[in-house]
Amino acid sequence: MKDIFDRCGFGSFELNSRIVRTGLWESQREPLGNFTPEIYDRYESIAASGVGLIITEVISLYPRDVFSKYTHTINFNRFVREAKDLTDLVHVYDVPIFAQLAFVQYNKRTEQNLEAEDLSIEDIRKIQADFIIAAQKMDFAGFDGIQIALGNNYFLSRFINPSYNFRHDEYGGNTLNRLRMVLEIIKVIKQNTKLHINCRLNAYDESQNGMTIDETIEIAKLLEKHGADSLQITRPLSSVFFTRNNTESNPLIDATEKILEEIDIPVILGGGLTSQNQINKLLNETNIEYVSMQRPFVADPSFLVDWQIKGNGESFCQACNNCYSKKASTCHLKPCSPEYYK
Ligand code: SF4
Repeated sequence: MKDIFDRCGFGSFELNSRIVRTGLWESQREPLGNFTPEIYDRYESIAASGVGLIITEVISLYPRDVFSKYTHTINFNRFVREAKDLTDLVHVYDVPIFAQLAFVQYNKRTEQNLEAEDLSIEDIRKIQADFIIAAQKMDFAGFDGIQIALGNNYFLSRFINPSYNFRHDEYGGNTLNRLRMVLEIIKVIKQNTKLHINCRLNAYDESQNGMTIDETIEIAKLLEKHGADSLQITRPLSSVFFTRNNTESNPLIDATEKILEEIDIPVILGGGLTSQNQINKLLNETNIEYVSMQRPFVADPSFLVDWQIKGNGESFCQACNNCYSKKASTCHLKPCSPEYYK
């Protein structure tokens, strides 16, 4: 029998549980980018809760990226020193921590929001260099790994997607070509660091001429072959995938199972589940071994403590998304709940 709180392997790591805290964009950073005491407190609460692995909120490669004005960016001069304090704090609890690297828009001087076909080869080299430098900074800052965000609607998720990439050179066309920029980034990071490389990948999408599950499987195989150490399968922006707590007909679960059948590296099921019993049922009825959660950690960074002690846990989170893109990592529904005042 598998259980959420099994100690389990994940690549070269031993995890305290099968739960991966995944990050989005709540950051609470100061205006100049510095880490606030609230960030350290939040990560310590999560690390101490029994979580298996922490993946940070998005850390953008570019300071004026549009994802959220509160997003972390690596481009402030105390980032490595302050991030090292954060990783040291998390490691006290024997929890590995990965830095999530991404950007949404690529801007070049007055040219804004360039897409795949707008990039010159020099632009591609610049993006690759920025990722590699970012990875080296994360290595210096004590992170155990990085997550390259190829999912949701980040720039690279569009670059690898046939419905966005219309290039006719070696960086467009077939699957290998569209993935080539990422594979080259992975190769250089592997040569120069010991970082675990996780890739966050959309299950598939429903856009016309977009990624099918067969193409996602091909991408997963290529990522594994070229050095990715694990994957996280996530939802694209499609209503089909937002089926809360329904493990009977959840296309994200079906896609993750299919991908798992084809590759040997660990694969994390993206978020959406909020019940301890449902997750344990899922673990035992499928080949899925790791489940990521994000919003439940916003609702209560320590909720896993209660789950472990009492069992039969259920997150308060209602998946309302009111906490998205806010300045503080705060549940905006919780004070209204009768449970909150018990
Ligand atoms: S604001 Fe909504 S989505 Fe965010 S933690 Fe609270 S209930 Fe969950």
